[in-house]
Order: sequence, then structure tokens, then C-alpha cells
Amino acid sequence: SREYMHQTEKLTVVGELAAGIAHEIRNPLTSLKGFTQLLGDKIDSNQDYMDIMITEIERINTIVSELLLLAKPRKLDFKELNIGIVLKKIITLMEAQANLYGVKIKCNDCEEIPSFIIHGEENKLKQVFINLLKNAIEAMQEGGEITISVQRREKDVEIKFIDGGSGIAPEVLSKIGQPFFTTKEKGTGLGLMVCYSIVESHQGKMDIDSKSGEGTTVSILLPLYQTKENEIEYTT
Ligand code: ADP
Ligand code: MG
Repeated sequence: SREYMHQTEKLTVVGELAAGIAHEIRNPLTSLKGFTQLLGDKIDSNQDYMDIMITEIERINTIVSELLLLAKPRKLDFKELNIGIVLKKIITLMEAQANLYGVKIKCNDCEEIPSFIIHGEENKLKQVFINLLKNAIEAMQEGGEITISVQRREKDVEIKFIDGGSGIAPEVLSKIGQPFFTTKEKGTGLGLMVCYSIVESHQGKMDIDSKSGEGTTVSILLPLYQTKENEIEYTT
């Protein structure tokens, strides 16, 4: 929606600045963590304090990593991608984490997803799918099923991530898209911003539809890459 666009534009400026700083923070952070661990092993200090220090350092590192993802590279390395294959790789990657939460990831016709070819940067799109699946898993404290559906919509491919999790209350839904907005104790509130930013850099659209207590559906539209071959394949 309009609201998200506006937020994302603002974030491009903030993101570029933040990512520049984030990059500089990373190295000292790595040595800080290393030496904290070393100290914890060497001196007879309070182990709880040491654990807190390391957890907090890791938390800074997570925030910094997500800020780095917000920076738009000058030039995206676009290639022809089969979206079904990218999704399958991500499902395999996320299965272990899903299992821990008692969550199953299902993909409608995943084995036979028609070869929807798009033009994009695989690693960036993977990041989007990982962030969305993470959110879905985290919303399903009692386990359940996440369904991924892939469908053609005229000149676009639509990818839906449907979860039966906690859902999002209306007052929370209106805040989503604001950087650092999170309802999680260990959240960063940057995951969805990263998704919006990457989807937009692919000339796509992302929408969230959610009902409190019922679940959430995130839909992504990505333009199909139409070579002559694909065109023939789609019209027959
Ligand atoms: P984080 O996951 O670090 O909190 P995100 O940007 O990924 O940051 O998400 C922001 C907020 O949006 C979450 O804290 C949560 O409240 C809400 N949210 C996102 N996805 C879902 C989902 N699938 N189900 C329920 N709530 C969600
Ligand atoms: Mg998240």
C-alpha cells in the first residue's frame, strides 16, 4: 500500500547510512565477542553476567546484519531464476527450524511448480523467503502448517505464505512497516522492512493480510521474465 511505499523510501536513505555504519561496527564487535568469551573462560567471573554480555553482543550483531541488508547495492546482479527451485531450496533450509517448533512447511504442487521464470538476485529473494518463513514459524507457538502457494497472475507470479499462527491485531498491523517495530522480546523489527525493500528492488509488491488469532498471509507479486520460449510455454 501507499503507506509502505512511503516508509520504504524513507528507509532507503536511513538504510544506506545505517548500513555504512553497520559495516564499520562489525569488526570491533567480532573482537569484542571473542575477548569476552576468552575472559569468561579465564577469570573467575560471574558466568551469568558473561552470558548476558555475549547474548547482548550477538543481539547487536543481528541488528547490524539486518541493517546491512537494507542497503541497496548500486547494481543488483539479476539472473533468470526458476522461482520453484529457489523456494524448494529454502524449504529444505528451513525444515529443521520448523520441526523444532512442530511446524510443517507445505508447498502446493511443490514438486511440479510450473517453471515460473523471473529475473532477480537469488540470494536477495532467498533472504525474503527466509524472513517470512521465520516470522510464520515464530507465530506458530503451538505448531501447525505453513502453506506456500505459487500461481500465475497475468504477467506476474504470486507467491503466498499462509500460516495458521497467532495473526496480527489491527493496531499492530498498522505499525508494521515501521523500522524497529517488533512485538517479540528478541525481535529486531527489521525483517519485514528488508523484505519490502528487496521485493521493491525487483519491481514487485508485497502485501500482508492477517486476522488476530487466525493467521497471516503474506503475498508477493514478482514480474515474470518473459523470453519468447516462456511465452510459448505459458500460452499453450
Ligand atoms: P521481528 O520478527 O524481528 O519482530 P519483523 O519485521 O520480521 O521483525 O516483524 C515485525 C512484527 O510483525 C513482528 O514482531 C510480529 O509482531 C509481526 N509479524 C510479522 N509476521 C508475522 C506473522 N506471520 N504472524 C504474526 N505476526 C507477524
Ligand atoms: Mg522477523
